[in-house]
Amino acid sequence: MAYNPYDNVLATVEKAAKILGLAPTDYEAVKYPERELRVSVPVRMDDGSVRVFQGFRVQHSTVRGPAKGGIRYHQNVNIDEVKALAAWMTFKCAVADIPYGGGKGGIEVDPSTLSLGELQRLTRRFTTMIAPIIGPERDIPAPDVGTNAEVMGWVMDTYSMLNGHSTPAVVTGKPLQLGGSLGRAEATGRGVMLNTVYICEKLGVAIENVTVAVQGMGNVGSISARLLYEKGAKVVAVSDVSGGIYKETGLNIPAICDYLSTRGNLLSGYNEDGMTRISNAEILESDVTVLIPAALENQINAQNADRIRAKIIVEGANGPTTVEADDILEKKGVVIVPDILANSGGVIVSYFEWVQNLQALEWDEKDVNEKLARKMEKAFGGVYDIAEEKNVTLRTGAYLIALRRIVDTLRYRGIWP
Ligand code: NAD
Repeated sequence: MAYNPYDNVLATVEKAAKILGLAPTDYEAVKYPERELRVSVPVRMDDGSVRVFQGFRVQHSTVRGPAKGGIRYHQNVNIDEVKALAAWMTFKCAVADIPYGGGKGGIEVDPSTLSLGELQRLTRRFTTMIAPIIGPERDIPAPDVGTNAEVMGWVMDTYSMLNGHSTPAVVTGKPLQLGGSLGRAEATGRGVMLNTVYICEKLGVAIENVTVAVQGMGNVGSISARLLYEKGAKVVAVSDVSGGIYKETGLNIPAICDYLSTRGNLLSGYNEDGMTRISNAEILESDVTVLIPAALENQINAQNADRIRAKIIVEGANGPTTVEADDILEKKGVVIVPDILANSGGVIVSYFEWVQNLQALEWDEKDVNEKLARKMEKAFGGVYDIAEEKNVTLRTGAYLIALRRIVDTLRYRGIWP
């Protein structure tokens, strides 16, 4: 049967609900997205032809606040993936204890095949088509795979034009000049680094003795790698869609990041003394202390889980580990810091960006990073403690906290009418 990431979500929710002793009526509503919008987006291409792209915006929950979640541009985007990503946002925001529900959007497109003008027209038309359901108090998009600050700037401008006035709080992850927050671009990676440091502390491993492999040197992966390198960890393997590289004595991560940002965005052209090329399958099976999957879903699955040699997995990506792989890894004693905790740094600083926009304030970077670290430490501590208390994995612990918070809010709000 084809892999459906939304089944992953439901399985984890059921497991957590059982441990919490919830009655089915307590969490029935959480199992379904509140709203799913599908749009066909026509775009005038540079050669004069018209192409129509399929786009989605799903609001999984607005129980704890406006829906919040990224927009993905990728050729494999489909409704089940967007639904799963939206649900993970609901749980992520609840674990971080920020006043948001969860949403996600996407367009089935390989953005690397479009010119800048085509990308902008696609984004503006898509924004117009989802405009009736987004807004600072309804649903606030952000970047995800295949989108970035520039794309968020077009979302902000389009929505503002339709609205008749500047509305920066409609989207986060914007350029600084449009009301973006200092620290947002690196927030997800910073959160991944912090979670890696916290889990190593708990397990009694000094960060200088840690070796790291990172799958996916995009926004999340490259910043996680750089910040861990700066902390003294040895990053021995990294990869992107073009393949991976390995060096036993540790890669020069600043040089790699510099190469990716200035000389082309694919690792396949990078070279340094002593490195060897490896495949994306091999990187996942590297003999390292910490593996950071930071690309896409379903990377660690029933087929390769047995061959994973890392002691710790810190999930930079959303949904990189399937339910079957989770069980195999648990039996092997691999500790997983789950996505809804590990990569929540991005949405936490997105929340800070939205708060700054609503108040027309600008916090300095030190302030943002300190506030992020405080939130992250609290979220990690809460998940770690409940996992110990109930003798469950950190993933189940995170879902216990999130589901409890969502169900409590639901109970106070009631089901209207
Ligand atoms: P990105 O587009 O910047 O980077 C994705 C990276 O993965 C690229 O380097 C790409 O080459 C690589 N990649 C793609 N397919 C691959 C494959 N099969 N094998 C190896 N590498 C592959 O995206 P991003 O924003 O860094 O997001 C990465 C993951 O993190 C996604 O799961 C996303 O949902 C999640 N995430 C992102 C944020 C954020 O703030 N950007 C926040 C939370 C979670």
